[in-house]
Amino acid sequence: AAKNGGRGQFRFYASDLKDEEQERQTVLDDLREALEGDQLYLQYQPVVSIKTGNVVCLEALMRWEHPERGFVSPGTFIPVAEDSDLINNLGEWALRTACEAALEWPKSVRVAVNVSAVQFANQGFPTVVANALAHTGIDPDRVELELTESIFVGDNDETERMFKNLKSLGVRLALDDFGTGYSSLSYLRAAPFDKIKVDKSFVDSCTQKDKNSAKIIAAIVGLSNALNMETTVEGVEAFDQLEVVKEKGAKLVQGFIYSRPLHQTAVLENFESGEFTIKPDGPDTYRPD
Ligand code: C2E
Ligand code: MG
Ligand code: MG
Ligand code: MG
Repeated sequence: AAKNGGRGQFRFYASDLKDEEQERQTVLDDLREALEGDQLYLQYQPVVSIKTGNVVCLEALMRWEHPERGFVSPGTFIPVAEDSDLINNLGEWALRTACEAALEWPKSVRVAVNVSAVQFANQGFPTVVANALAHTGIDPDRVELELTESIFVGDNDETERMFKNLKSLGVRLALDDFGTGYSSLSYLRAAPFDKIKVDKSFVDSCTQKDKNSAKIIAAIVGLSNALNMETTVEGVEAFDQLEVVKEKGAKLVQGFIYSRPLHQTAVLENFESGEFTIKPDGPDTYRPD
């Protein structure tokens, strides 16, 4: 079998292609069942202020515990769901569940929810968001929708109308995985994003000698600041990466160095004392300021 590359899937010879199609169908059927049962849940990963160590936001990440296959990664099942209507049901469930969870956190803490480009292309999506807000009663300003550059494939006017409708609900919009798609700067001119999330791939190589990734992080932070947007740097795992990212002007970080995604119970335990403050894993001599 040869690697196809796209989406991390595999393309096989003709007979296996059929197997692959069957496999997709099985995943889809199982996923439908999962949504009706209790195999799906959300975990929440802290977004931390480097300066204070305070958790300012948590990103909801979908988890699937399959009864036979065990843990299935969202990187595997989200693309399958996106090829069918099911992504709309999954997305609506995630949005409501995340808003409900956030109601139990301090009011100063936001919740971020990933939105598939397929959901975004659906005319009824603003109504889905409005219903989730009304149903839970959460302050819309606490809700951040994470979109990727793939939303820009459609009709310009449609996209613009969707942005208007979403912003009129009072939610915040973040551009996720920035720098990995086509990254046309005209997107930023037209779209009312409140935040840019710098993709992990820049962090992975930001401590390398050639320094290009580090410079790109600095440039994205600068661009984001100039446009009055916040920046979160994603996927910071190591202490030396945190040092670089901090030096390049980033204020908010999300990554294993602070915390992996957590169950709601763990999030609540951490908030129990009032503030949820985390120190990065790193040398004891480390000072945030
Ligand atoms: P994403 O939205 O960019 O989410 C960040 C991903 O990076 C998460 O992977 C998170 O666990 C991982 N991550 C965060 N910090 C680190 C780090 O320091 N090191 C490493 N190695 N990884 C880190 P996860 O949970 O596997 O999700 C993968 C992708 O699946 C997400 O990327 C998002 O595109 C999609 N996804 C997850 N949940 C949902 C959802 O509810 N709806 C939609 N549409 N997509 C979702
Ligand atoms: Mg995200
Ligand atoms: Mg991301
Ligand atoms: Mg990603």
